[in-house]
Amino acid sequence: MQLEGVLKEVFKKIDTIEQRGALAAYIPELAKVDPKQFGVHISTVDQKHFGMGDYNTPFSIQSIAKVLSLIFAYRIVGDDMWKRVGVEPSGTPFNSLVQLEADRGIPRNPFLNAGALVVADILLSHLEHPKDDFIRFVQSMSDNTSIDYSERIAQSEKAVGYRNVALCNFIKSFGQIKNEPEAVLDFYYALCSLEMNCKDLSETFLFLANNGIVVKNNRTILSEAQSKRINALMQTCGFYDESGEFAFKVGLPGKSGVGGGIIAVHPDQYAIAVWSPTLNKKGNSYKGMKFLEEFTTRSELSIF
Ligand code: GLN
Repeated sequence: MQLEGVLKEVFKKIDTIEQRGALAAYIPELAKVDPKQFGVHISTVDQKHFGMGDYNTPFSIQSIAKVLSLIFAYRIVGDDMWKRVGVEPSGTPFNSLVQLEADRGIPRNPFLNAGALVVADILLSHLEHPKDDFIRFVQSMSDNTSIDYSERIAQSEKAVGYRNVALCNFIKSFGQIKNEPEAVLDFYYALCSLEMNCKDLSETFLFLANNGIVVKNNRTILSEAQSKRINALMQTCGFYDESGEFAFKVGLPGKSGVGGGIIAVHPDQYAIAVWSPTLNKKGNSYKGMKFLEEFTTRSELSIF
């Protein structure tokens, strides 16, 4: 595989660059992660799978889970989703409150914390066992039944989650959260605490490179149009106030998390997951961004 050769070369190069950025220490448990870990895994639509470094080590996927919860909810409510959450890039950090007042509790997009809280609320309204149903969905997508929430990380975030409490209550004050904020936050922290490795992530997200259909078993997860919309949202909103920069340098739909993971999708080609825990100022993996920039440059494949 030509992509495999490029991945190897770029991995070796980025592995040696200076480790910049900082751990997401605002969540105490994430401050304990070994910052030197670095892993990459690619899964292609022609069924090639290849990883390097710590690609088998599970880590806290944090906001990458927002894509999975959106997909899960989109399957249930369809386009009614867009009555509750917008599709515009916000240009603000992930935990910002500023636009919610003017927008009357409708978050700009589903990848902001505000938007993900609304998506969690939608799931709570439709599912009898939201945590169980969601984890089973992720396990089946990744083909890994050992994937689970981390109670330790969820509790650690909950203990200091003042902003998320504020966001949830603020949205509730506009009537745009239907369940009790306590229950919504509990589910949101569980979603963010999911632990997956790079291989799980690239396998799980590969269907978005294949028009909504799981490559290995032909299962339809989303329609072609829905799958395109998720990619469009990742392209425009996946990196918060660094989304433009990511499109400019990497040029793929993608999503980051403060655990240092990034998933990116090249439609019709591949899904790639990279993990390096230290983050730049915008909360996106420093080495992860560098790796993907170099990878898409050298592989000379582009969606543009
Ligand atoms: N759980 C994190 C939070 O709410 C998710 C943020 C992220 O990964 N960008 O702060």
